[in-house]
Amino acid sequence: AKRAGRNRSIPFGPAIAQEIGQRRVLEAVVRQAIETDGLEMHFQPVLALASRRVSGAEALVRFRHPDLGPVPPDAVIRAAEQSGQIAVLGRMILGRVVAAAGRLAAAAGDPEFYVTANLSAGQVTDDLASQIQALLARHAVPPRRIVLEITETALFGDERRAAQVLADLSGLGLRLALDDFGSGYSSLNYVTRFPVDIIKVDRSFTIAMALPARDAATQARQAVVRSIVALAEALGKPLVAEGIETPEELAAAERLRFTHGQGFHFARPMPCDDLCAWLAARRPR
Ligand code: C2E
Ligand code: CA
Ligand code: CA
Ligand code: CA
Repeated sequence: AKRAGRNRSIPFGPAIAQEIGQRRVLEAVVRQAIETDGLEMHFQPVLALASRRVSGAEALVRFRHPDLGPVPPDAVIRAAEQSGQIAVLGRMILGRVVAAAGRLAAAAGDPEFYVTANLSAGQVTDDLASQIQALLARHAVPPRRIVLEITETALFGDERRAAQVLADLSGLGLRLALDDFGSGYSSLNYVTRFPVDIIKVDRSFTIAMALPARDAATQARQAVVRSIVALAEALGKPLVAEGIETPEELAAAERLRFTHGQGFHFARPMPCDDLCAWLAARRPR
């Protein structure tokens, strides 16, 4: 290893080398996924807590590198943003989601069944609404079947423009979910400014809900959750607790009056075929 000498002029060490290497790998994963159509979507059910009926499913992208195996989706999405490939990748993901939405709704036997797609910053562009409109027409999928999940980071930047894009989407009949609500700085601001239909709360809060309120951090998180519930109720919006893994977390979400839940306790994200079978088996008769 190089010694960190006093006169060292180039700040190039193992950490940076590793970072550059990692970025190259991630960019290659994205490029390969685009060139070979080599990305997969998994779908995780979202349940209405009162009835335990499946309301919809969240689409989550999966990447597999031939040598490294599965690569975390958030890292790949970030790499796609940084290397200018997000527009193409985002279109591919939305194409998969819209195609799956029709099949899943049929399997669920529920005309209200929806599929949610996560949007990243680079996807919130002026042509997004017309892009999705074309996909819906091609697959004969009604707009209410698609929910777009947006986070603060996806909207960060030109807020006026983001507001216009979201208004266009909402005008088409698509619904919007605010993802990871309460984790950022301006969640409250966004709920007043954008046409939000569903509010989703991150797993970090789900974990805190089920903990004994011994330390100040847990107490603060629990207070934030209570105020989010009050807000969602005042606005009449469905509220989803993400990442429910245990019966205790489920009980806490119910006690706090979350309307919906999602997590490994109910089901892991799975391929469209598997979720179709899962939904068909649970269909109310
Ligand atoms: P997210 O949108 O908050 O998605 C929820 C994450 O929680 C998913 O991780 C899901 O697999 C995981 N999860 C669900 N239930 C549980 C549970 O009970 N316990 C635990 N520990 N985790 C649970 P995943 O699939 O690894 O995705 C991570 C992030 O990557 C997502 O966070 C999202 O920000 C991003 N992402 C995934 N797919 C896409 C995509 O198609 N487009 C965009 N733009 N971002 C995506
Ligand atoms: Ca999400
Ligand atoms: Ca989330
Ligand atoms: Ca999250």
